[in-house]
Amino acid sequence: MSDAAQRVIVIGAGPVGLCLALRLAQQGVAVCVVEALGEDNFLEQVPRAGTNHPATLELFDSIGLYDRLAPRGIVAPLFHYWDRHDNKLIAEFDHAHLKEDTRFPYVLQCERIKIVEEALALARAHPLIDVRLSTTFTGFVQTADRVSAHVTDPSGEPETITGAYLVSGEGARSIVRRDLGIEFEGFTYSDRTLNIEVAYDFRRHGYTERNYISDPDEWSNLFHWKGPPDRWRVHFPTAETEDPEALCRPEALQARLQRFLPTGQPFEIVGSNLYTVHQRVAQKFRVGRAILAGDSAHVNSPIGAMGMNSGVHDAFNLADKLVGILRGTLEEDALDRYERQRRHVALQHTQQQTMRNKKLLAERDPAVRARNHDELRRTAEDPVRARAFLLRSSLIESLREAEEIA
Ligand SMILES: Cc1cc2nc3c(=O)[nH]c(=O)nc-3n(C[C@H](O)[C@H](O)[C@H](O)COP(=O)(O)OP(=O)(O)OC[C@H]3O[C@@H](n4cnc5c(N)ncnc54)[C@H](O)[C@@H]3O)c2cc1C
Repeated sequence: MSDAAQRVIVIGAGPVGLCLALRLAQQGVAVCVVEALGEDNFLEQVPRAGTNHPATLELFDSIGLYDRLAPRGIVAPLFHYWDRHDNKLIAEFDHAHLKEDTRFPYVLQCERIKIVEEALALARAHPLIDVRLSTTFTGFVQTADRVSAHVTDPSGEPETITGAYLVSGEGARSIVRRDLGIEFEGFTYSDRTLNIEVAYDFRRHGYTERNYISDPDEWSNLFHWKGPPDRWRVHFPTAETEDPEALCRPEALQARLQRFLPTGQPFEIVGSNLYTVHQRVAQKFRVGRAILAGDSAHVNSPIGAMGMNSGVHDAFNLADKLVGILRGTLEEDALDRYERQRRHVALQHTQQQTMRNKKLLAERDPAVRARNHDELRRTAEDPVRARAFLLRSSLIESLREAEEIA
């Protein structure tokens, strides 16, 4: 067979597309990565994911990515639940409870943009990966033995790239998913989340690197990122009726932060953005030779840091199956197992946990709030329960469960 007939075409140089490409190429499979962004704007993307769970760190390590990310991130073994209403720390969870389960008993706070920058550098250095920046995917056709992706090249000319399989790592607005007519089942929250980036050390008020803060009126998340200068992201819910421009005015951001933590001194705000949150899972993850992975297959609220992590887990699962199929050691129905395993994780783990996390932070009923907080406190204090909780929150349990699926 020619190289093109064995090649995998990956649309999107996001964390999922790049991890997939590296895992495939490192096992001898040629890959073409198509990315719409170019040299001039690839590193200009809005802030998104950044908390990398232990199982994801193990996978990053297996492709040589962890050592490039570790110096650019913050090792965070702890995370906190706070009650903003009573200004109290409810529970502190320590990933040290997972020391028998993983070589990385902590999360690495390292933003998506650093991950794609480092992964892109590795991909470009690999002789089996052809990275096409400034190239926009527009559609595809497939036959029984190949797939052809239609793209617009950097000069605006149409081009067709042929391969054995096409993987959509395009993110939530996947053209592959749309063209296959696959339903993106679920819902969109009516409120939007406001993200404010601040240069201020919140640890002096008792916070740790990752904090989930419950409040009946205005829940929030607070996360620490490595600089220079170090920054903290604070998330707040906003009503759909609020004017986006008014919400992001500097005085409005400052007033919101001062209500959150009255310091009497203006905060140094270094950025802000508003985003809409969806909870959706594609009804199918593959049709023939076209396969969905990452945000093109499932999207969820960032509370709990599961979107990119579970997408990267898709990428590794899928890569190993494609390698087996292309080498002739696995039948093509291995791709059906990929769908069964990863759809199960999306529905039963990431969707369930992220929806529960949001409900927990936003709960308004005082009796339910008190019960939830007691439960969290007791869980964090009991080593057996804390480990079980952390196995779920860090997605290790989801990977173990997926392995049991035939
Ligand atoms: C505020 C926020 C915080 C988050 N925090 C976390 C977190 O802490 N942990 C976590 O696990 N997840 C988090 N997430 C979710 C996470 O960002 C996504 O799940 C993750 O980025 C998905 O990766 P992906 O590679 O599937 O898609 P993307 O990251 O969306 O990448 C898709 C790539 O495809 C390219 N592309 C798209 N269309 C085309 C086309 N037609 N042609 C060519 N290229 C194309 C895009 O330019 C892009 O580079 C967060 C999300 C948000 C909004």
